[in-house]
Amino acid sequence: MEKLPIVVIGAGPVGLAAAAHLYEKEEEFLVLERGQKAGANILKWGHVQVFSPWKFNMDSVARKLLLANGWAEPAAEELPTGYEIVEEYIEPLSKLPQFKQKILYRTEVIAVTRKNKDKMNSSLREESPFIIYVQSGGVTKNIEAKAIIDASGTWHNPNPPFADGVWRDKELKQQLITAIPNVKAEPDKFKNKHIAVIGSGHSALNTLIDLAHLKEQYPDTKISWIVRKQEVQEAFGGEASDSLSARGELGTKTHQLVDNRMFEVYASFYIEDILKGSNGLRVLSTDGREVNQIDEMVVNTGARPDFSFLSELRLDVDYAVESTPKLAPLIDPNLHSCGTVRPHGEEELRHPEPNFYIAGVKSYGRAPTFLMTTGYEQVRSIVAYLTGDLEAAKQVQLKLPETGVCKVNSVPKQFQIITGNNEGNCGC
Ligand SMILES: Cc1cc2nc3c(=O)[nH]c(=O)nc-3n(C[C@H](O)[C@H](O)[C@H](O)COP(=O)(O)OP(=O)(O)OC[C@H]3O[C@@H](n4cnc5c(N)ncnc54)[C@H](O)[C@@H]3O)c2cc1C
Repeated sequence: MEKLPIVVIGAGPVGLAAAAHLYEKEEEFLVLERGQKAGANILKWGHVQVFSPWKFNMDSVARKLLLANGWAEPAAEELPTGYEIVEEYIEPLSKLPQFKQKILYRTEVIAVTRKNKDKMNSSLREESPFIIYVQSGGVTKNIEAKAIIDASGTWHNPNPPFADGVWRDKELKQQLITAIPNVKAEPDKFKNKHIAVIGSGHSALNTLIDLAHLKEQYPDTKISWIVRKQEVQEAFGGEASDSLSARGELGTKTHQLVDNRMFEVYASFYIEDILKGSNGLRVLSTDGREVNQIDEMVVNTGARPDFSFLSELRLDVDYAVESTPKLAPLIDPNLHSCGTVRPHGEEELRHPEPNFYIAGVKSYGRAPTFLMTTGYEQVRSIVAYLTGDLEAAKQVQLKLPETGVCKVNSVPKQFQIITGNNEGNCGC
C-alpha cells in the first residue's frame, strides 16, 4: 500500500495546491478532474471579478514551483476575474512538468470505497487501500489510493430557492438560472424584462450590480430582489470597514443601488412555491406575499456538498452545516454573522475514515464563508500529516482578512472559546 498514490479529487485551486504540497514532499500523487481542464468550476463564473487580490489567491508552494519554471507572477494587489485566475495561475500550474501525467482530465469520480470492505466492515480498514471508481470516456475504471483528499467543490450542486431546501421539479430547475449570469455578454436575455434575483451573498450582489448597469441603459428592465434576511441591509456586510476593499465595495454599491430604488426589495421572504403561468413565473412566500410576471429568475443562494459518491466511507458530518463537527461551530452562520474562523487544519478536518479528507470549499459544507487561502492552509496541514510531519500539521497559521462586521448570534457556551481568536470572513 505504501507505493500507492495519494489521490486528490478535483483540479480546482485547492486540489492543485494539495498536488503542489504532495510534490514538495516527494509523495506519489494523482489528481482526478472531471472537467476538460483545471479550474473547470471557476470557468463557469469566469467573468466575475473576485474580491480577494492575487496575494490571497495563490498557494505559497504552488507559487514557488511556478516561479522556478519562469512564470510571470501577477501583481499581488490586483483583483483578477475568475478567467484570469485560471489563465494566469491555475492553467500554468496544471501544465508544470512536475504535474505531467499526474492530472487525469475528463475523469469523474463516481464512487469511493475500501478494497473488499464496505462501510459496515470495521476489521483493519486502514490497511485496505481505497478504491476509487471513475468514469472516463464512457468507461468505468478503478484506481487504488493510500489516501484521498476530496477537493471537488460545490459549485455544481446549487441550493434551491425554496425555504424548505428541496429541489422539487426538474423542469423548473432547468428554467431557473443558478449560475451568475454574464449580463454584459447576453443583454438581450435580460433587457427590458422582469428579473427576480434570489439570495443575499456575494454572488447575488454581483448579479444585481450587473443588472443595475443594464437597467441604466434599458430603463424598462425591472429587478426584484428577494432575500430571506429580516433586513436587506444585512446583506451589505462591512462595506468600508471590510479589510478586503473589493468585498466591501460589493456591499457599498448594492447599498447605493437600493437607496436609488433600482430594485424592488422583498426582505424576510421565504419562498414556498414557484409557479409557471402564461405571464411568466410567480413566486409565493410562506407568509402569503407574491411576486409575479417574472421573465427570468436568478437563484444565487449558494451551493452544498455532494456526498453521494462517498456513501461507502465513514464520514462524520455536522447535522446542520455539513462540514466536520469540529469545523462546524467555527463557520456556522447560525452562530456568527461573521465567522470568527480559528485557524484549522488536519485535526479539524479528520473523519472516522482513516486517511480520507474533504478540503476546499466542500469542507465548509453549506456554510457560505470560504476563501481560497483557507483551503491552501487546510491542504498544507493535511499533506504534512499524511507525510508524517505531525508537528507541521498542527501548526495552522491562517490569518483571514476581516469583513468589518462581527455580530455573534447567541453562541452556545461550549463554543465561546472560539470567538475573538482570529479574524473572520463572511457571506459569499
Ligand atoms: C462567484 C464566486 C466568487 C468567489 N470569490 C472568491 C474570492 O474573491 N476569494 C476567495 O478566496 N474565494 C472566492 N470564492 C470561493 C472559493 O474560493 C472558490 O469557490 C474556489 O473555486 C474553491 O476552490 P476549490 O478548489 O475548493 O473548488 P472548485 O474550484 O469548485 O474546484 C473543484 C474541482 O473539482 C472538480 N470535480 C467536481 N466533482 C468531481 C468529481 N466527482 N470527480 C472529479 N472531479 C470533480 C470540478 O470540475 C472542479 O474543477 C468565490 C466563489 C464564487 C462562486
